[in-house]
Amino acid sequence: MNKNIAVIRGDGIGPEIVEQALKVLDKIAELFGHNFTYSDVDMGGCAIDKWGDPLPKEMLDKCINSDSVLLGAVGGDKWNDVPAHMRPEKGLLRLRAGMGVYSNNRPAKIWKQLADASPLKSSIVDKGIDFIIVRELIGGIYFGEHKTVEENQEKVATDVLSYSEKEIERIGRIGFETARKRNKRLCSVEKSNVLDSSRLWKAVMHRLSAEYPDVELLDMLVDNCAMQIVKNPAQFDVIVTENMFGDILSDEASMITGSIGMIPSSSLGDGTCGLYEPIHGSAPDIAGQDIANPIGTILSAAMMLKYGFDMEKESNAIENAVSDVLDKGYRCADIMSDGCKKVGCSEMGRLIIENLHK
Ligand code: NAD
Repeated sequence: MNKNIAVIRGDGIGPEIVEQALKVLDKIAELFGHNFTYSDVDMGGCAIDKWGDPLPKEMLDKCINSDSVLLGAVGGDKWNDVPAHMRPEKGLLRLRAGMGVYSNNRPAKIWKQLADASPLKSSIVDKGIDFIIVRELIGGIYFGEHKTVEENQEKVATDVLSYSEKEIERIGRIGFETARKRNKRLCSVEKSNVLDSSRLWKAVMHRLSAEYPDVELLDMLVDNCAMQIVKNPAQFDVIVTENMFGDILSDEASMITGSIGMIPSSSLGDGTCGLYEPIHGSAPDIAGQDIANPIGTILSAAMMLKYGFDMEKESNAIENAVSDVLDKGYRCADIMSDGCKKVGCSEMGRLIIENLHK
């Protein structure tokens, strides 16, 4: 298969971690007979320095016209004082809007080799943690009207939470499709005992479930879900939820799995062109030292293969290689523990490639 991948190295540790992910993709192409070509895209602080704009239009167009986008991270202290509309993060917001990605998908997976890094008890972790949160990204209360008015000599603040059937249906489909590619269990999270928007959410999810008879649908109230994620995370396969609930639950879920350097993500819209990136930032404190953990970015590339290109075997090969390297006791500094062998960013990339098999 031929695929054109837009590559945003970005700032800080971005170039180092992306370099390793591209080497892994090259090895996958060699093993499985694919042809991946890469188009370099400047975004973030490096684009401000070079073009005076965190995402010039031609760079956005390169992304939109690609088969998918792989991103390291953007930002850093150097650009803290630039005007708000010019900040590196603005490039990221413009990229998401320009690509029309309305679904953010974040796996919460604990690698058995890193179980000690979880703040949960081993009796809970030992049952396994491996689920994805599919979060609606461009609707709901964050995008509703926000206002503060003076009434009867006190301030009153209002934020509007609104969802249309169409908005719920499109994110619902991503939830069902994601569950289809995993263990076929979808948990729809809402607050239908209180909110109208949640009652509509629930109704749309049940209407959609008729089209996905192979996926088991479960409803859960958001407060219960927050408890269940720490009490019994093994019960979840895919969680689908609205913007604010997803924002909170996905941070809770990433905490229970340990290190930020291990977690990939995808952002998807209507087409197959998605945005794949680790959840961490540009880590300027460790940039340029070859000590960053590249695994979150390498696993983002694995997500791209699975969810963007339907290359499940190739994606599994990457996950297996990561698991084998961890089994052999190799660790980057952020996941280091007693008795393990500490390696840097490029060495971790090399070891993962060495352990990649068809
Ligand atoms: P951060 O995620 O960059 O770093 C937080 C901590 O985690 C730091 O101690 C860092 O060294 C460590 N860390 C992060 N990734 C790591 C990795 N792969 N391996 C080892 N350690 C790692 O968050 P921050 O310090 O709050 O933000 C730094 C910059 O990144 C800011 O400019 C921020 O705006 C930007 N940022 C960008 C994105 C993005 O590009 N998507 C996301 C978040 C933050």
